[in-house]
Amino acid sequence: MKTLLVAEFREGKLRVEYSQLIAFAQELGAESAMFLVGSPDELPRFDGTLYLADVNSYGEYNPAVHKQLLLDVIAKEQPETIVFHHSSYGWDLAPRIAIALKAAQISEVVAIEDGKPVVPVCNAKLRRTITSRTPQTVLTLQAGAFGMDEEPSGTPSVVQIDTDTTGTVLCSGYEAAKTEGVDLSKTEVIVSAGRGLGKPENIAMVHALAKVLRGEYGASRPVVDAGWVEHNRQIGTTGNTVTPRLYIACGISGAIQHLAGMKKSDFIVAINTDKDAPIGEVADVFVVADVKQFLPVLTEKLQNL
Ligand SMILES: Cc1cc2nc3c(=O)[nH]c(=O)nc-3n(C[C@H](O)[C@H](O)[C@H](O)COP(=O)(O)OP(=O)(O)OC[C@H]3O[C@@H](n4cnc5c(N)ncnc54)[C@H](O)[C@@H]3O)c2cc1C
Repeated sequence: MKTLLVAEFREGKLRVEYSQLIAFAQELGAESAMFLVGSPDELPRFDGTLYLADVNSYGEYNPAVHKQLLLDVIAKEQPETIVFHHSSYGWDLAPRIAIALKAAQISEVVAIEDGKPVVPVCNAKLRRTITSRTPQTVLTLQAGAFGMDEEPSGTPSVVQIDTDTTGTVLCSGYEAAKTEGVDLSKTEVIVSAGRGLGKPENIAMVHALAKVLRGEYGASRPVVDAGWVEHNRQIGTTGNTVTPRLYIACGISGAIQHLAGMKKSDFIVAINTDKDAPIGEVADVFVVADVKQFLPVLTEKLQNL
């Protein structure tokens, strides 16, 4: 089986997450080539063919042009799977490629089972295995779902690619969303609230523990969506990525999108009534308890130290 891995260049830099594409191909047991509109000065570490278009000529994103460059490589390589990040680049380009190839597109892949992609359903409560019925398949990978144990290595064999397509739309740049207040990426202790807190009034328990530990509070996405906690404190793929010394997950199930934002924390404590909650896979200490009973007791004990 052959895969084509579509790496990304953003704001003048190669996105380091390309290693997740390589990890996916390794798990699939597929031979792979890589595609990048980037700079020859910043190449991915990869043993294989890298089809490289110069970002200075084609821009960091230009839909029609990147699509044409990619279709030319696909025609040459004939990969069975074309793999993107589940990022704004992938969201836009993957469907254009799938339509052009009349190929199935499977979005937000979180695992591979028996060679088939697995995606989350029902707000990540369930997983579905999907069989593609087209000769080629376009996939996007959920951030953090595939990881390598070691840093990628190797030197690609670079094939320079060009096109005379000019396109009708040009991406003129990126503007980072304004962040106000706390910077959770630099915080050493984070106490994070999940839906298991039950109601907005209970968030005060998380604030109290964070204060005693001289840390900050964060939250899972449903808690932010419900307006219990400010958006700039959301942790996960669509929020902050954090690496504190201590992360306390209170009533958080451990959906892959949440884990992607906190699993590299030094020490993780999870408090959950469900002993089988997936957060247990990354927790150093797993407390099976009702968070509403446990948090006030823990906070009081720490206060009295
Ligand atoms: C494209 C996309 C992007 C996403 N991005 C993010 C993201 O950035 N961050 C994020 O967090 N999520 C994100 N999600 C949502 C994610 O899939 C999960 O739905 C979410 O993380 C679940 O939040 P939760 O753990 O608080 O809630 P739930 O999954 O509902 O889990 C609640 C947990 O609390 C436990 N519990 C219940 N009562 C108690 C109690 N009294 N005491 C202790 N434990 C209790 C339950 O056993 C359960 O494990 C995203 C989803 C999608 C589709």
